[in-house]
Amino acid sequence: MIKIGLYLHIPFCLRKCPYCDFYSIPIKFNRNFEENYLKAIKKELVLIKNFLSKKIQIKDFSFITFYAGGGTPSLLSPDFYENLFNFLDNNFNFSPAELTLEANPETLTLEKLKNFRKIGINRLSLGVQSFSQKGLKFLGRLHTVRDIVKSINWISKANFSNFSLDFIFGWKGQGEKTLKKEILKALEFDPPHFSFYELTIEKNTPFYHLYKEKSWFKDKKSEKFYQIIEDTLSSYGYDRYEISNYAFSGFECKHNLIYWEVKPYLGLGPSAVSRISYLRWENPPDLNLYINNLLKKNKLPFKILEKLDNFEFAKEYIFMGLRLKKGISLEILKNKYKTKIKTEIIDRLIYEGLLSKTKDRIYLTFRGKLLYNRIVLLLWENLICV
Ligand code: SF4
Repeated sequence: MIKIGLYLHIPFCLRKCPYCDFYSIPIKFNRNFEENYLKAIKKELVLIKNFLSKKIQIKDFSFITFYAGGGTPSLLSPDFYENLFNFLDNNFNFSPAELTLEANPETLTLEKLKNFRKIGINRLSLGVQSFSQKGLKFLGRLHTVRDIVKSINWISKANFSNFSLDFIFGWKGQGEKTLKKEILKALEFDPPHFSFYELTIEKNTPFYHLYKEKSWFKDKKSEKFYQIIEDTLSSYGYDRYEISNYAFSGFECKHNLIYWEVKPYLGLGPSAVSRISYLRWENPPDLNLYINNLLKKNKLPFKILEKLDNFEFAKEYIFMGLRLKKGISLEILKNKYKTKIKTEIIDRLIYEGLLSKTKDRIYLTFRGKLLYNRIVLLLWENLICV
């Protein structure tokens, strides 16, 4: 039986944030929208089942995690998810240990949260982004600091013991003191998990035209910020188990670990990516195309199927695995993917204090994590078949 993580992309937001390059469209929410989207997802699931069985001979599989990301998954009603879960229960082996919903404060009410909990969602990832009103304004968010506080209190009242507070740091005007204050404020709520992502300026976003250079946030400042986050959170017992994620032991995100550990996952919805067995595919980031293909033409929305060989899997393993505190195993590279990283490169990176090695595993040091992208490229360039 193959264990698969199930991702559902919700491509709707109330408004587009100026830094965001995820696929989503701003909508005024109405129930018709929700019903149509649900129909398309169900159809995608039916066709995928057929595809897996006929194209890659996978008949026996179970979904071990569920993660709704976006977009703004908390915009949709608990009924939407309940209906989907019933469908999955009736037609698939669906027994996920973790069911996560990404949520934005401005879309929540206590009643909605209670209903999410009632239908089985057991983890929330709350898009706090900043505990500073100035930060929220810069990031163009719709919620206020008061909304965040209210939401977190409701999350506890609705009995979510597992939740993450998700932040963006490095916004213009955020100094070290502000960052520290924001973290301490968040710690008052005792969340079992945190994400801290550095603001990146992506092409095709309004921020790109305004702040291409991100001149206020150079390497030195970035290093200092990472240090503040790691030092503060580790002094409260959080483990930096992944470059951008911190958790109390046992509260690491099971679904995201599937990506980082290069295990199989299925993505539903426009722009969602899937990798199962040796195949990878991606749905086009276009809601109309997605719905038309599924509901009118009765066909799966993706065309490009990428076939991965051992070498590409090894690259993916390095790319994903080095994000984790535990890093990657050189034995796995050799025995599973029939590849090897040239020893002199590993030795050089260890000498420079960017990598550490314990038994057969290599992992990034604090300084190495700051240079993650460059180190991955270097390791890829020095990867050879054995
Ligand atoms: S709410 Fe999230 S997904 Fe939607 S536009 Fe803002 S950052 Fe992007």
